[in-house]
Amino acid sequence: MDKKVSRIAVLTSGGDSPGMNAAIRAVVRTGNYYGLEVFGIMRGYQGLLEDDIMRMDNRSVANIIQRGGTILKTARCKEFMTKEGRQKAYDNLKGRGINGLVIIGGDGSFRGAVDFTSEFDIPCIGIAGTIDKDIQGTDFTIGFDTAVNTAVEAIDKIRDTADAHDRLFIIEVMGRDAGYIALHSGIATGAENILVPEQKTDFEGIIASLQEKERRRKLVNLIIVAEGEESGGANEVAATIKKRLPNIETRVAILGHIQRGGSPSCLDRLIASRMGYHAVECLIEGRHNVFVGIQNNKMNYIPLDRVGKKKGTINDEWMKIVKILAS
Ligand code: ADP
Repeated sequence: MDKKVSRIAVLTSGGDSPGMNAAIRAVVRTGNYYGLEVFGIMRGYQGLLEDDIMRMDNRSVANIIQRGGTILKTARCKEFMTKEGRQKAYDNLKGRGINGLVIIGGDGSFRGAVDFTSEFDIPCIGIAGTIDKDIQGTDFTIGFDTAVNTAVEAIDKIRDTADAHDRLFIIEVMGRDAGYIALHSGIATGAENILVPEQKTDFEGIIASLQEKERRRKLVNLIIVAEGEESGGANEVAATIKKRLPNIETRVAILGHIQRGGSPSCLDRLIASRMGYHAVECLIEGRHNVFVGIQNNKMNYIPLDRVGKKKGTINDEWMKIVKILAS
């Protein structure tokens, strides 16, 4: 295959996140600006295997920067995890003369890209589109800011009703492996406790602090729980508290998929635009098989095979801040 990139394709893969459309738009318009032919692949690797690929001009991405979801749709694709599947994917790209690929997704999608580039001569660039903000090498992932603002808006509303009735609310937010949505939304809404997968849940401490607050008649309490919290999420946490403190009126709210949808925030549109532009620049400049992140307000390029989940950066200091500010 000719080393010079002339036809590129973009896909969105794995979990969707608000701002993916802004990234698609940036890739398409930057590619067209530099005279490349740009293609869109439907439903991630699934569409690549099925040759569900179309040409994208600048008009095709008009009026999408403000829309949640992804116009290219996304999917999980088991077949791409097999060598035969990836061979089919490569044949489809080759058949169309596509010699550069931009993948907008999470760490799973990047693992797929690593397998793909190690077997076939197809340069891939990764952009982090995930609400979980759990990817190494970047301070931002597309969708996190929107998701966390959606959570904050919802929790503020719950606080109003909690306040009217003097209730304890246990609110579950998304985050199976990472507690950033819980941490950020919890601090921003003044939660008493924030339970995240990165930390052991200290039920004794929670019970003691609820008892102490009850003595002081501080009756409105919010506990924010990431879905990956070790005991199993908000319902489990509520059951444990209820057993120990049967007199406290407790309600559970699970925010669920509203956190994935909605119009992307300004920040998510901005980083998606910036990352999409740089992804195409990477393909043109021959900086291949890298992940495009932003760190300390600078572009950060790391080899795709070194990108993984960011772990353990929610530390005790954060939890100390939560405790002090909720007292
Ligand atoms: P995310 O990208 O949001 O982390 P997934 O983990 O579901 O989402 O990955 C998206 C897709 O990437 C999978 O459906 C599969 O097609 C592909 N993929 C994930 N892991 C691998 C792997 N180890 N090898 C090949 N393909 C993979």
